[in-house]
Amino acid sequence: MFIGHYAVGFAAKKYAPRTSLAVLLAAPLFSDLLWPPFLLLGWERVRIDPGNTRFVPLDLVYYPWSHSLLLCAVWATAFSLLYHGIRHYRPGTIAIWIGVMSHWVLDWVTHGPDMPLYPGGPRFGLGLWNSVAGTMAVEIAMFVVGIWLYVRATRASDRIGQYAFLAYVVLLLVTYIADRFSKPPTSVGEIAWPGLIAGILMLLWAWWFDSHRTTVDAARREG
Ligand SMILES: [Zn+2]
Repeated sequence: MFIGHYAVGFAAKKYAPRTSLAVLLAAPLFSDLLWPPFLLLGWERVRIDPGNTRFVPLDLVYYPWSHSLLLCAVWATAFSLLYHGIRHYRPGTIAIWIGVMSHWVLDWVTHGPDMPLYPGGPRFGLGLWNSVAGTMAVEIAMFVVGIWLYVRATRASDRIGQYAFLAYVVLLLVTYIADRFSKPPTSVGEIAWPGLIAGILMLLWAWWFDSHRTTVDAARREG
């Protein structure tokens, strides 16, 4: 799953308006942020395998440190405790925990049977990726709902808050659709490096436009 994870982060803003969108996105994206560096370090493995599922040309051979249910729970707890220690904001803490855990659940729905319960443990997956139309329908619907909730929870305070946000949404959608027409990667580096760089840039960009938007609650209090 790709933009479906983003949808969870955007939606969380309604529940935890005082937490930066960058943090709320980092939570549901967490497993996919760990995965590229873990691939580069050789801690996890992937095989390029066109046709593995109809949606993704990859055999996700081994990735328990980023994608097992047990490790997701560890990351979720560590991330939310760290956040709590710094910000003492309960809705944000809860949104982070649920966000990190949601990654496993959503990947379990979409992936083939490759999502481990724990390192070395049994692996599961319902295989929504075997249907391109089904995958895109579910993810785009989730994305629309997530963006809608974010738009209702926040208001642009200037042009950056408006247009940098709009560009972000358009870029995610265009990338998601264009990816259908791209060739499979030829090396693991071709997956990991762009993944790593894009992950960091997308979080910085989200932090940037989100800090140029006020939450509707705050706007009401001031007005
Ligand atoms: Zn994932």
